[in-house]
Amino acid sequence: MKDETIAIHGGYETDPTTHSVAVPIYQTVAYEFDDAQHAADLFNLAVPGNIYTRIMNPTQAVLEQRVTEMEHGVGSLALSAGSAAVTYSVLNLAQAGDNIVSVPQLYGGTYSLFAHSFPKLGIESRFATGDAPEDLDKLIDANTKAVFCESIGNPAGNIVDLAAVADMARARGVATIVDNTVATPALLKPIDHGFDIVLHSLTKYMGGHGNSLGGVLVDGGKFPWAEHAERYPMFTTPEPSYHGVVYAEALGPAAYIGRTRTVLLRQTGAAISPFNAFLVMQGMETLNLRMERHCDNALAAARYLQDHPKVEWVSYAGLPGDRYHDLAQRYMGGRASGILTFGVKGGFDAGVKFHDALKLFKRLVNIGDAKSLACHPASTTHRQLTEAEQAAGGVTPDLIRLSIGIEHIDDIVEDLEQALAAV
Ligand SMILES: *Cc1c(COP(=O)(O)O)cnc(C)c1O
Repeated sequence: MKDETIAIHGGYETDPTTHSVAVPIYQTVAYEFDDAQHAADLFNLAVPGNIYTRIMNPTQAVLEQRVTEMEHGVGSLALSAGSAAVTYSVLNLAQAGDNIVSVPQLYGGTYSLFAHSFPKLGIESRFATGDAPEDLDKLIDANTKAVFCESIGNPAGNIVDLAAVADMARARGVATIVDNTVATPALLKPIDHGFDIVLHSLTKYMGGHGNSLGGVLVDGGKFPWAEHAERYPMFTTPEPSYHGVVYAEALGPAAYIGRTRTVLLRQTGAAISPFNAFLVMQGMETLNLRMERHCDNALAAARYLQDHPKVEWVSYAGLPGDRYHDLAQRYMGGRASGILTFGVKGGFDAGVKFHDALKLFKRLVNIGDAKSLACHPASTTHRQLTEAEQAAGGVTPDLIRLSIGIEHIDDIVEDLEQALAAV
């Protein structure tokens, strides 16, 4: 089936007991075993089925199946937040003494996790100077467990040449992880370009209505863990915390996602609530329709800002002449999602003035809502970073990030116009 159809029907058949057409919210913690043998088979991963909602839930399972199909993966794991997906994506591969290699353009929370928290666990984060494959390649060594990037950086708006990065990393025998939150599978499917692991903050475009936190990890199923057993012993040697299972043997191509569920999720519990899984699915039903409008509106807003005398610069890969325009054409047919950044002439203070004068746009730290949203990272999301760290992540003092919603474009432009007039 095509994405639009998967988003509505994937992973669910009308419930045979109740004939419910909508996906039921299974608000339960546990599931009854038929007998002791059934319980043993479930725990041994010998038969599929439910044990405890910290590890799996039937509402969550429908969401996971839909995301798996839309991203062309072999399995998914829904989590409580995108941040949990970022954390687990790395901790499933790396431990004390290891390192990961990352592009510098990252979501602020991800940057803090990599720069400040992973080192306390003994995992070194090596930030490249840019997002090109050669920048990342230089930093890889025998202890590198992952190459990490965002397909479209938030808020930098850079687009990574995914196929080139995937080829480079595969040649070095290292798995690749991409945060596909801003692009969504409606615009870009990284697994098709050779990426191994895809993750999302479902909180953003996937849910799309700013009402529920969620995250998801998708396993592309193609990384040959057994060929690189020295780098990735967690898939080829018995797992002591899950009665000695060898994941590559027990789960084949779904080894990565199976281990994340049965080790990290089971032990640390960042489970999505069944109700949030339901709400995210409700939003996902219209993902493709919404992304079309987000892209059209963002391009129109970018064009408007580009021509405005009070605007210093605009960064949006959908604009001809943008540094990332060619990559946007190649990977997304020119549809560059709904996030754009720009600078008002007058630096930090002008940015704050513009931000405070907005009326329709909501001032907050979120993206991907149906509503138009605005953020001044230097005074909010990135204020805990040093100016050098901000610059490395593509944040300048004047930068305003807009998440363009799906309202009528005339109303969006009118609000930009009156806010610029107030500067
Ligand atoms: C918001 C966001 C996250 C974190 O997701 P939460 O659901 O807020 O935890 C991670 N990556 C990107 C690109 C994001 O925009």
